[in-house]
Amino acid sequence: MKAAVLVAPRTFRVETVDDPSAGAGEVLVRVAGAGICGTDYRIWTGERQVRHPLIPGHEFIGDVVGVGPGVTRVAAGDRVAVEPNWGCGVCDLCRAGMENLCLARTAVGIDRDGGFAEMAVLPERACWPAPAGLASDVLLFAEPLAVVMRAVERAAPQPGETAAVIGTGTLGLLALQVLTLRGCRVLVVGRTDRRLGLARELGARATIAGAGEPVADAARRFAGRDGVDLVIETAGTAAAVELALGQVGVVRPGGRVVLTGLPHDPARIEFFWIVRREIDIRGSMIYRDEFGQAVSLLTQGRLRVDALLTHRFSLTAIDAALAAHRDPASIKVAIFPGARPVE
Ligand SMILES: [Zn+2]
Ligand SMILES: [Zn+2]
Repeated sequence: MKAAVLVAPRTFRVETVDDPSAGAGEVLVRVAGAGICGTDYRIWTGERQVRHPLIPGHEFIGDVVGVGPGVTRVAAGDRVAVEPNWGCGVCDLCRAGMENLCLARTAVGIDRDGGFAEMAVLPERACWPAPAGLASDVLLFAEPLAVVMRAVERAAPQPGETAAVIGTGTLGLLALQVLTLRGCRVLVVGRTDRRLGLARELGARATIAGAGEPVADAARRFAGRDGVDLVIETAGTAAAVELALGQVGVVRPGGRVVLTGLPHDPARIEFFWIVRREIDIRGSMIYRDEFGQAVSLLTQGRLRVDALLTHRFSLTAIDAALAAHRDPASIKVAIFPGARPVE
């Protein structure tokens, strides 16, 4: 099969490698599409260390072409979304149901070969069957949507509450829609007017670009009180975390702030204001039971994901796809290994 093999930082080789095969309890999947996210980019640059050679790619979907002995959950011909993380199953965290926090977690496309290839092998438990008729362009969002569904759950939204979503990437624009389905009025905070226009099309009641006092003012006006009830931070930058939690913040006293973007740089937070306002800060790490729920929500067709898939590439154009991921005009970039080269 053909695969995009990362042989060293910033060096992909698209080459023919041995076809993988499914052992006991494993499933062989022909990859139909694989999204690119910030984690893939950090793996490519070498900021996130992995073994080389590695076939990255963790946000992918495909069709089952073979199963090993003992597999009952899926069969050849099934369309599946791949849940690319699982815990060790034996540590205290896993046994307490906190597999997303397991220190010995396995991540597909990071610890083992992933979806930037024509085929991939996965344990049965990672394969979530989806209706045959569900479009690839929709099912591709299962993984980021699972991240968002956990973040929203962590925020415990009540119908009629006000929420701010920080960030207008894939996670932010999905969080906006899930919060709206949960009955919240949502303010979206972003950086570019074009993206904020899309947020309004997708249901944002208000949007604002910028940082600091003007954004906090906008949040107070939007909420009609001293800030919004809850915030979901998806941008993963220090500036975004400071906006969520800083002295000039958007959340009301007694409100909840869920952080699900992964900030790699330290943020300057004055904790005096966290105490004084009794702000509830909650981290949200990938997902626990949310993956199947994400597949169901996409199946119901209640989310608009068509506008989020902005760039499509063949496997041979992997470098161009990574460049597109960094382009501010892109939202979700995906590789379609079955496609003929489009570059
Ligand atoms: Zn990702
Ligand atoms: Zn564990």
